[in-house]
Amino acid sequence: MKIDVIGCGSALSTKLNTSAILVEDNTQCWLVDCGPTIPRALWQRKLDINQIQVIYFTHIHPDHCAGLPALLGQWRSFKRSAPLTIYCQKPQQASLEQLVSLASWPDKDWPFPITWRTIEDQFQHENWQLESAATQHEVPNRALLINNGEFSLFYSGDGRPTKSSIALMRKAQLIFQECACFDALPESSSHGDYPQSLALYKELGEKPMYLYHCWDEYREAIEQAVKQEAHLHVSDDGLVLTSAEW
Ligand SMILES: [Zn+2]
Repeated sequence: MKIDVIGCGSALSTKLNTSAILVEDNTQCWLVDCGPTIPRALWQRKLDINQIQVIYFTHIHPDHCAGLPALLGQWRSFKRSAPLTIYCQKPQQASLEQLVSLASWPDKDWPFPITWRTIEDQFQHENWQLESAATQHEVPNRALLINNGEFSLFYSGDGRPTKSSIALMRKAQLIFQECACFDALPESSSHGDYPQSLALYKELGEKPMYLYHCWDEYREAIEQAVKQEAHLHVSDDGLVLTSAEW
């Protein structure tokens, strides 16, 4: 499994792409989230136009979905033919469908089929086993566990860890956890913070954990702090990890 961090920034970062990852193995390729700066970052990678088969939306805050019309528009312009599957939460689908229609407006026809799938607690897509769990966020957000039979990856999307998202972290070999702030946030907060992330890292046995979606003003402090820990890191735009490394 290969993980390419397209973006690791927070919603309003002036330096980093909005948070999204590309996950692939030799059978399939998923994009997880597609905020406003993601399409150009993908185009810079010169991917095959048919390469991404699935887009998974953790939630529909604009920094996680507003790039969708631009990406679809490019696929349309360059004659993508491969089917696309979009995973989202059912109550969020109508808003995403509006973004899809914006990509081709006023035409309604698409040159490739789009299939909508609802995110379940557990589901399978081809040979990948997937699990999702709610985090604590302003709008419902579904963290994702991907297991391709050889490797397992947890990606939180936005939000403070919950019992159920931590249960998925336990099953993962590699963890990406949202960590907005260096200082502790209230337990009712919509975001993760460094003291909680560090405690989780220790509790989970110091598995490799990458923190992301840090608010710009706290990123440096978090980068300094993780230097004390062997397997705790701050994610970065363009970071590529492969399962062979573990
Ligand atoms: Zn959000």
